[in-house]
Amino acid sequence: MRKPSDSNNFSTTYRTHLCGEIDPVLEGEIVKVCGWVNSIRKHGGVTFMDLRDRSGIVQVVMHPGKVKEIPFKLESSVFAEGKVVKRPENMINRDIITGEIEIEASSVSLLSDTIPLPFLPEDEVKAGAELRLKYRYLDLRRKVMFNNLWIRHLTVQYIRSFLAEKGFIEVETPYMTSPTPEGARDYLVPSRIHRGKFYALAQSPQLYKQLLMVSGIDRYFQFARCFRDEDMRADRQPEHTQIDIEMSFVSQEDVLSLAEEMFSNVFKKVLAENIAVPFERLTYEQAMSRYGTDKPDNRFGFELFEITQEAKKTGMKILENAESCICLLAEDYLPSRKEIEDLERIARDNSAGGLLWIKFEEKGETGPLSKYLTPMLRYQINPENKIGSAFAVAGALSQSRKALGAVRLEIGKRTNAIKKNFSFLWVVDFPLFEKDDNGNWTPCHHIFTMPNSEDIKYLDEDPGKVRGLQYDIVLNGIELASGSIRNHNPELLKKCFSVIGLSREQAESKFGFLLRAFEYAPPPHGGIAPGIDRLVMIMTQSKSIQDVIAFPKTLQATGLMEDCPRDIQTDQMEELGLVMKREDS
Ligand code: ASP
Repeated sequence: MRKPSDSNNFSTTYRTHLCGEIDPVLEGEIVKVCGWVNSIRKHGGVTFMDLRDRSGIVQVVMHPGKVKEIPFKLESSVFAEGKVVKRPENMINRDIITGEIEIEASSVSLLSDTIPLPFLPEDEVKAGAELRLKYRYLDLRRKVMFNNLWIRHLTVQYIRSFLAEKGFIEVETPYMTSPTPEGARDYLVPSRIHRGKFYALAQSPQLYKQLLMVSGIDRYFQFARCFRDEDMRADRQPEHTQIDIEMSFVSQEDVLSLAEEMFSNVFKKVLAENIAVPFERLTYEQAMSRYGTDKPDNRFGFELFEITQEAKKTGMKILENAESCICLLAEDYLPSRKEIEDLERIARDNSAGGLLWIKFEEKGETGPLSKYLTPMLRYQINPENKIGSAFAVAGALSQSRKALGAVRLEIGKRTNAIKKNFSFLWVVDFPLFEKDDNGNWTPCHHIFTMPNSEDIKYLDEDPGKVRGLQYDIVLNGIELASGSIRNHNPELLKKCFSVIGLSREQAESKFGFLLRAFEYAPPPHGGIAPGIDRLVMIMTQSKSIQDVIAFPKTLQATGLMEDCPRDIQTDQMEELGLVMKREDS
């Protein structure tokens, strides 16, 4: 991986090198560096100052009489010039690259002073999350934060050149537009010129990238900002960046293999990690039945399996009538009472009625299900008589899977069973439609996804059976990308609109411009849009996408540093023709 100090282009009137570049090869040379005071201490009249810039730290030694004494404060911005000398053997610091040498200062000066800092930008920062966000520019001085932005930069650069070499053209599309089909809530921008009318901020460039295919652009990409007004989580922000990709005259296999090649290249170049291709591929049904989620973390086992039929024979009332009973065996995991309670809570939070469990120990079996085990059920659950625990959820199939999937994930975290590698997989063959909370059909991805040709026959009678040519990339249990082959056939599109109850007029008013373009011989096309924030979060092993975005919002969607959102002036409201409805009015 390239380092921030691999530059040699930094020479200016202020400096000849970056701090982290000063190495033993430069011994005897006069150098000039600039940076922030990371630490300063006195030993027998001599002042030692660690000067830091984005590349690292160098020690500057100031002998009394040789340079003017300046009472530098921590984090003030300083210039130093002097000769590179070897440190005495007993002062070598093997922890840092510049640890064998120091700069014997002949001149130092204060470039700018600092007022007292709210916190020091140390590796192990003591400030809480809010203070760090409020003073984000200071937080970004921390090595770990710079490293995150550096990895992000390298990733973006490699992807850009990879795609350009493959013939993709980078095209920018509008952010201020009309609603796009992703289905989240829009951020709206009022128009001053057309009072009472609003632009929607693009949830993605979806419609534009498809239009570009009609235009014959053929292979498009863009690092696109996407704006979605959704409830926030650690891996969500009101605005996120996608590597938006679209290709003409391609099948699903073409898109999948391009994405595999792109990711394996980037991981090799940026992190020196080998990613095996092709990625593991699971159908949606396999993902749900084995992991209880469409974002499986396959870095550990404890997969789900069904025991519905055998469970009915146990005589346990709740199992007799259950639509399904789903189970998992966690080898070598013998949870405490408290841990079991936590897992029960997770199951209930995921709509399960409860969580059944058995502990298989040397001394025998314990737990609510143990008394009901038939020999056959025992064999189904634990065929090799392993020490460990089994957990089961009974009820409606999709709910039981989902609840036990959440329990599995928690057990994975608690047992450290999750391997520390990067595990990519594809989920394919998603249903084209799913039921929303009101029981209406809604697109599983978006309405422009092509139905699987084998399933078009079910569109009228049983839309739930139709699979879409949709694919997701999941990395370490996080959804990294979604994409699909697009439905460019106007007749078929009309059918799909009618499944979701979108009338001709509604479709026309929402996406009329795309439908019109599709009357002019659109090419078969498809694409994908990996999220760069999530990607870099996983690459840098950060806990949240906040850590890989320079100026993120809080989980309440606020900007603490820039103080937004905020009230607007009455004259601005008037200009826009807006009236604020107060909560109490
Ligand atoms: N626009 C889609 C999304 O943001 C991705 C795609 O289908 O390419 O999920």
